[in-house]
Amino acid sequence: MPKILAVTNQKGGVGKTTSSVNLAASLAAQGQRVLLVDLDPQGNATMGCGIEKRSLRHTVYHVLLELAPLAAVRQHSVSGKFDLLPANRELAGAEVELVDQPQRETRLKKALALIAHEYDYVLIDCPPALNLLTVNGLTAAHAVMIPMQCEYYALEGLSDLVNTIKRVRTNLNPTLEIEGLLRTMFDPRNTLAQQVSEQLKQHFGAKVYDTVIPRNIRLAEAPSHGCPVLTYDRNSKGALAYNALAIEVVQRALAKK
Ligand code: ADP
Ligand code: MG
Repeated sequence: MPKILAVTNQKGGVGKTTSSVNLAASLAAQGQRVLLVDLDPQGNATMGCGIEKRSLRHTVYHVLLELAPLAAVRQHSVSGKFDLLPANRELAGAEVELVDQPQRETRLKKALALIAHEYDYVLIDCPPALNLLTVNGLTAAHAVMIPMQCEYYALEGLSDLVNTIKRVRTNLNPTLEIEGLLRTMFDPRNTLAQQVSEQLKQHFGAKVYDTVIPRNIRLAEAPSHGCPVLTYDRNSKGALAYNALAIEVVQRALAKK
């Protein structure tokens, strides 16, 4: 059975997209069959996989509104060696257009049910909001991966996210779990980052991934080349960190079986 992970945090700029794209690539490099779902109208994950978002005829938008078959939407990222359901700004309209449609929260789940068996991991890159798109992601997922920067307001935002997860669990997806919290853009010389990191561990214990993603310029550069960091600079600290995360993610999945 595939593992479906929603990569979520309603804060922007915490490393959701960077983590989605690079974890997808590292899992694929380790022999896992991976599908990445870009659920953000910004389409950054799509571009980061080397797919030109402006030239797409069909995207996740058409999946959610049931306007096109999955086969017409699905792309393959050559640079990442995984498949992609891409997105662009058209997806921003889905929120409004779905409002009076039935089962609007379960559209992605329903679509993924048709193809998820072809994969070992499905990663969903959520937008920076607790909106209907994110709810679709949380409803389709088995578990949530929460990337976060260890800074002062990080924990505050987390309670809103945890409440949303609880609501989705009550109403739509009773088995939804928090898979793990991922510390991103980490600078070990920063005392505040260390303190927040300690608080995270106190609060969430083993849910905090051992792997820490350091701040690494290669991770920021890779998307402009349309590829994951593994393709761009496989020996960079960023690439090694996401390789380590992929190993940890797989080990956690095996431990649960
Ligand atoms: P989100 O998807 O949560 O909005 P992104 O993954 O797009 O966040 O990251 C925000 C910005 O920070 C991007 O410009 C990205 O390239 C950069 N970035 C993300 N992670 C790192 C990192 N570990 N080191 C350096 N830059 C990073
Ligand atoms: Mg993003």
